[in-house]
Amino acid sequence: MSGYTSNELMNMAEEYMIYGKKMYPAVLERGDGVYLYDKEGKEYLDCVGGIAVNALGYNNKEYLDALKAQMDKVMHISRYYHNEPAIIAAKRLVELSGLSQAFFANSGTEAIEGALKVAKKHASMKPGADKDNNFEVIAMHHSFHGRSMAALAATDNSKYQGAFVPSNVKAVFANFNDLEDVKSKITKNTCGIICEVMQGEGGVYAADAEFLKGLRALCDEKDIILIFDEVQCGMGRTGTLFAHQAYGVKPDVLALAKALGCGVPVGAFLISERCKGVLGPGEHGNTYGANPFCMAAINAVLDLYEKYDVLTNVNKMAKVFEEGFDKLKEKHPDKVTGRRGKGLLQGLVVTVNRDKLEQVAFEKGLLVCAAGTDVIRFLPPLVISEEEVNKAINIMDAVLSEM
Ligand SMILES: *Cc1c(COP(=O)(O)O)cnc(C)c1O
Repeated sequence: MSGYTSNELMNMAEEYMIYGKKMYPAVLERGDGVYLYDKEGKEYLDCVGGIAVNALGYNNKEYLDALKAQMDKVMHISRYYHNEPAIIAAKRLVELSGLSQAFFANSGTEAIEGALKVAKKHASMKPGADKDNNFEVIAMHHSFHGRSMAALAATDNSKYQGAFVPSNVKAVFANFNDLEDVKSKITKNTCGIICEVMQGEGGVYAADAEFLKGLRALCDEKDIILIFDEVQCGMGRTGTLFAHQAYGVKPDVLALAKALGCGVPVGAFLISERCKGVLGPGEHGNTYGANPFCMAAINAVLDLYEKYDVLTNVNKMAKVFEEGFDKLKEKHPDKVTGRRGKGLLQGLVVTVNRDKLEQVAFEKGLLVCAAGTDVIRFLPPLVISEEEVNKAINIMDAVLSEM
């Protein structure tokens, strides 16, 4: 396109871009199905999926046609005016979740930021509330909620928090799946509890049903807000459209992003009946939120999930991964010690150096990413086929043999 070679571009990236992470030595140019291709045409089977974003895979014609049709009408208008795709997307998400209202944001972090504002505002509306002192949230150890100051405060990872905490948001951390620990951390200043239904970055840990039920009861009893962060585990990733639907427990605020737009930057938080009216007119807003282009993406995603019966595929392919992982463990018992996960958020527990493993996989044309301290995460497009899952397992087998 520009006439630069991959090497020239990578050198320019070093010079001109601020990057937080190690970069792999390739410039990716296009995608098709579950495959990505670099500028030299090398093929990669993608089990990172844009970090759980590209649920419909790459270059899906129906998805792209829906976006192009919206582009031909209008991409962005201001929040002062209604647009049909936004209203329809809100109605659909509300009906699918059984929650009451939706707010649209541009990312997961922003959805979390909004969710935390709901919790704080809710606390400040209680009779006799101490407005200066009501912003303690209980978050879980090994959580990840994003990189804004508030979301970061609730993210239990010193690597990300670095110089940016303490911030004005006080998060108190409790052990995931340990209800007694959460109870012991509640104070009069607690305004909410934030919890991933399945921890992704933290190491692919699913919540226990008893834990989530206990959090619900606790939040009801204390009149505080229960936030489920389904930015990564929602939108079908774990086998139900919303991860908490497998548990029969509803949050007060549900945060979504990543696969919500399948590649278009969009997030949302949905609120329960109880939180209606907590955020008054003008108390929260943004410029791009609910713009018709991103909203058309959400509607296309929901249409295509239904059309392709994505959830059925997730549950089928989860089994193929799990059987494949068990075989890898049998064959490489010194390198693979188990697996965790659910649906197509799968983790292979390994003892080997994970940076090296990622690197060797990359060289062999398989994209995977580490999470937590001992796991390699697989988050492929949710439309991956059995043949493709088996191919990923076979490449992993070759990678482990080489380690
Ligand atoms: C990715 C992620 C976020 C942050 O979303 P961004 O779109 O990167 O801002 C928040 N919570 C969880 C669980 C995530 O995985």
